[in-house]
Amino acid sequence: MHHFIYRDKNMYCEDVPVQNIAEEVGTPFYLYSYATLNRHFLIFDEAFNGLTRLVCYSAKANTNQAILKLFESLGGGLDIVSGGELYRGLHAGFSPDRIVYSGVGKRIDEIDYALETGILMFNVESIEELRLIDERAGLLNRRAPIAIRVNPDVDPKTHPYISTGLEKNKFGIDAQTAIEGYKIANELQNIEVVGIDCHIGSQITEAEPFNEALGNLKDLIHKLEKMGIGIEYLNMGGGLGITYDDESPPQPHEYAKPIVDSLKNSKLQLILEPGRVIVGNAGVLITKVLFRKSGKVKEFVITDAGMNDLMRPTLYKAFHDIKPVVKNENRQIVADVVGPICESSDFLAVDRRMPDVERGDLLAVMSVGAYGFTMSSNYNSRPKAAEVMVKGDQFHVIKTRQSYKDLVEGESIPPFFDV
Ligand SMILES: *Cc1c(COP(=O)(O)O)cnc(C)c1O
Repeated sequence: MHHFIYRDKNMYCEDVPVQNIAEEVGTPFYLYSYATLNRHFLIFDEAFNGLTRLVCYSAKANTNQAILKLFESLGGGLDIVSGGELYRGLHAGFSPDRIVYSGVGKRIDEIDYALETGILMFNVESIEELRLIDERAGLLNRRAPIAIRVNPDVDPKTHPYISTGLEKNKFGIDAQTAIEGYKIANELQNIEVVGIDCHIGSQITEAEPFNEALGNLKDLIHKLEKMGIGIEYLNMGGGLGITYDDESPPQPHEYAKPIVDSLKNSKLQLILEPGRVIVGNAGVLITKVLFRKSGKVKEFVITDAGMNDLMRPTLYKAFHDIKPVVKNENRQIVADVVGPICESSDFLAVDRRMPDVERGDLLAVMSVGAYGFTMSSNYNSRPKAAEVMVKGDQFHVIKTRQSYKDLVEGESIPPFFDV
């Protein structure tokens, strides 16, 4: 469910005609619906009613300050994967004790930053990282709360690029080594074992992999208890999928039910790290048709947004529905919707059946609220798009479009050039 719907021929975001925003802001721009963001967060959180839980929104899906602030105000926590995301989270007002820190490659300065901030816990992804955190905590005179990110070796049945919980993946620590890790952690002076963590992949559209992971984690918790290592927090990670095309992922309550049933009589506190399921369908990318072109074997629709703005089609061959902002009665064509970037892999859609369009028409690339803007780049020196949020009949630019000046920011000519 989202709030990008047609009234008559015109696409609205909540109560604002999308075309009006395009006229004021220019294209391309990301457009988010406040009502959708709000609803998605609450539906997800409330699915776990009856359990003590903390929904730590996964910042990397969309790190705009307005979006972070909204989830903070709804009582959410934050899952971060870098010092930059920690900065953004604190800047948006998240209390450190609602922040968990994942990621396979934490740097010393990032670890120190998180220790000094006093976050809820580190999700530790290797034994070396565990020892480093202990060492840094010692130097800074802190105790470091940790969970070990266990790789439960379940197949999430998703795109290989976004599965993370298989033995061959770089993430987490396999169950056997994790037990060793907990033994070590338990003896390290400056480490406090508080939790266990997993995150098995992204865009998961079946319930089974989550249940399997939960079962594996609970087995581990039992083993650890027998060893005298108590676990307070169980972190199930993120990964619940959304409908891009014709997928039918479990609804949040269906995803939550086995977890709630399994944990309601335990003292464990639940942590979740949803990203995509909260923000994915709350955002669209509005782009303008620059040109039409008929090749020998293909029709092309050339737009002013490309892989620099939305990387997912190029990176994962991801499908995003593309809709006209103003519906027309044109004949159907089959076309590649391509961007302005000088790469053959710069496409938003391939062989897409769609109503014909012409120069100046506006298109909405759907379901781009997650991993859209955050993956965008300045390739080909294209300024990053603006981001806009609508609430009811109001809209606000939550990130201004970059200027050309922004493109050269921080660059300098070495004095030894002598020119
Ligand atoms: C990316 C990520 C998430 C969020 O994944 P979604 O599929 O967007 O829900 C959660 N936890 C960790 C550790 C991640 O890396």
